[in-house]
Amino acid sequence: MDTKEVLVGLRKEHGLTQDGMAERLFVTRQAVSRWETGETVPNTETLKLISRQFEISINELLGQPQDLVCQSCAMPLAIADDFGTEADERLSVEYCSHCYKDGSFTHNRTIDEMVESNLRFLDEFNAQSGTNFSEDEARLVLKAHLTTLKRWAAQ
Ligand SMILES: [Zn+2]
Repeated sequence: MDTKEVLVGLRKEHGLTQDGMAERLFVTRQAVSRWETGETVPNTETLKLISRQFEISINELLGQPQDLVCQSCAMPLAIADDFGTEADERLSVEYCSHCYKDGSFTHNRTIDEMVESNLRFLDEFNAQSGTNFSEDEARLVLKAHLTTLKRWAAQ
């Protein structure tokens, strides 16, 4: 599903006209109409507002109901601030805000440097997933995992 289909669905589900939707989001009816034809997409601030007003995740709004992870560092993408941005200011559905901004990567790490940087979160990771990886074990697991992500798969 595309953002435009999600938005039409959301509006109808809430029994709103385009005018009513526009009012709730502080935009013009024309803006709502352009989103629904797919001519434009809501900007990041408006996406956040829609997410809050209608209790829908940014993933779903971007037409990506499955859980997304950054295809560079593997961080889960959940709230709007997690998502990187494309050159045209749309949110990226592939990369996080730490790795990707305005359509390009914010850092030039190698996969090994990315593994080392992620190891900073080892304690947190162990606590969350109930594992007890040593640094060496985590290094192997992480590298294997990162290799499956888009940024590293081609290397
Ligand atoms: Zn990332």
